[in-house]
Amino acid sequence: MKRILVAATVIALMAGCSRNAITGRNQLSLFNESDIQSMAATEYAQFLSQNKVVATSGSKDAEMVRRVGQRLTNAINSFYANQPEIAQELQQYKWEYNLVDSKEVNAWCMPGGKIVVYTGLLPITQNEAALAAVVGHEIAHALAKHGNERMSQQAGQQLAGQALQVAIANKTPAAQNLFMGAFGIGSQVGLLLPFSRKQELEADRYGLIYSAMAGYNPQEAIALWERMAQASGGQKPPEILSTHPAEATRIQKLQEMMPEALKYYKPIGK
Ligand SMILES: [Zn+2]
Repeated sequence: MKRILVAATVIALMAGCSRNAITGRNQLSLFNESDIQSMAATEYAQFLSQNKVVATSGSKDAEMVRRVGQRLTNAINSFYANQPEIAQELQQYKWEYNLVDSKEVNAWCMPGGKIVVYTGLLPITQNEAALAAVVGHEIAHALAKHGNERMSQQAGQQLAGQALQVAIANKTPAAQNLFMGAFGIGSQVGLLLPFSRKQELEADRYGLIYSAMAGYNPQEAIALWERMAQASGGQKPPEILSTHPAEATRIQKLQEMMPEALKYYKPIGK
């Protein structure tokens, strides 16, 4: 009986596997992306209503966040314009870019393109290109559907994928819990709670490419992660460092990815 259950689950999980159009990698995705995006939009609006959003009028920082977001998404849209499958997916995105007043060193992009940057990140990014590296990384998580994948893995463990799919569509409390657990808004998501190592590498690679395409020097990403490491002060590492892949490893991987990203780099105004 147990074996049958396991077999049935394996089949169910295989049925939920799909090839990601951007990365080409087969990933578990038990949920409709449109349901997840709808839920994300609801949670995003709620998050903004409960936090202090910095208005773009009169704030150079908020303007910069919006400018970086728009440059990245314009570059992404034009890059994928002649790849119908991706272009169609991108049409469903309703991008938003907001700066939120908070000491946390964090940023995230929810499914469907809902971006938040925390003011606490800006002293570490220090310049627009480094901010683009972070936002590009977070956008890459969304485009590669890492949120759906993480939710599916967690639901798979609970052997309740089918029921949860319905629950997600109806935004029930159980579905909300799963969403928050996988994509927990607030202090848990984004830089503070990274995805799996494989997903982080994908986000690093595509994030570099996207920021380069948007006209930002991708090499700023390396200086940025060095500053992140320094911010730890060598003592008790802040949460951001204890949960992320070791910085030295990440920087080495970024350097390996750099030649590819630099092929896409066209400085702004040139
Ligand atoms: Zn990440």
